[in-house]
Amino acid sequence: MLAAGTERVAVKVLVLGSGSRGNSILIESEGTRLLIDAGFSARELERRLRVLALAPEGLSAILITHEHRDHSIGMGSFARRHGLPLYLTEGTRRACADLLEGGERIHLYRSSRALLLGSLRVEPFLTAHDAVDPVAVTVTEVRTGYRVGLATDMGTPTAGVVHALRGCHVLILEANHDETLLRDGPYPWSVKARIGGPHGHLSNRAAARLAGELHHPSLGAVVLAHLSQECNRPELAREEVGRSLAGAGYRGPLLVAPQEEPLEPVLDVAECVRSSAGPQLSFLLR
Ligand SMILES: [Zn+2]
Ligand SMILES: [Zn+2]
Repeated sequence: MLAAGTERVAVKVLVLGSGSRGNSILIESEGTRLLIDAGFSARELERRLRVLALAPEGLSAILITHEHRDHSIGMGSFARRHGLPLYLTEGTRRACADLLEGGERIHLYRSSRALLLGSLRVEPFLTAHDAVDPVAVTVTEVRTGYRVGLATDMGTPTAGVVHALRGCHVLILEANHDETLLRDGPYPWSVKARIGGPHGHLSNRAAARLAGELHHPSLGAVVLAHLSQECNRPELAREEVGRSLAGAGYRGPLLVAPQEEPLEPVLDVAECVRSSAGPQLSFLLR
């Protein structure tokens, strides 16, 4: 339930890019702009922000979910260059020591402990993934209660993950691979076992089940993220997850985050919630 008089507080989700070659997502509201993950070079992050008509100086903070380079590679240089605070868990800080030079404004956070960054409350929670201290997050705008869930890089959607993601108005979920394409694909057996294992990445089928389970009447948009270039195709991910969501009664947009460029359109959470309750917006279904 949203507080009265807060309808005009805009909460926006901007996906700078997602996939095994880099992940970065920005959530903004009321002058707070939080960049979650910096999995591109500093220069590439700047370019993508420019595409979205944003300047790095306008950001409030960077939060890193885990040390894998597709989430962290640009964090040190980008944070130093623009004097931005960098939020890391202790484990991630240690695992990313080579990306840090000592001049960064580091703030340590812990999974399962909420942090308030301007108008955004960030709640990190542990995921099942082969990293030192991997987290997913929900981000809630404190006045409106609008909540965005971002969960990629997990082999299994644990009960804790499902619980943490309940009630989100926008969900960004991993749909990493099609199980058949992974099985028949070019990777060596050990890599296939890692990706498809309980601490690897979520398949389309698992994402479909999770999305269906998380559906509720105020779910406004679902974005599929971290798609494998070799073992997935956007239409396969969308078809499998779309079927599950439709079965649960979902009528809002289902988008796929691209790797090479920012996702268009920018998502306005309030508009998404409104539109998913009305007639389907076919122009968003691409
Ligand atoms: Zn990743
Ligand atoms: Zn990872």
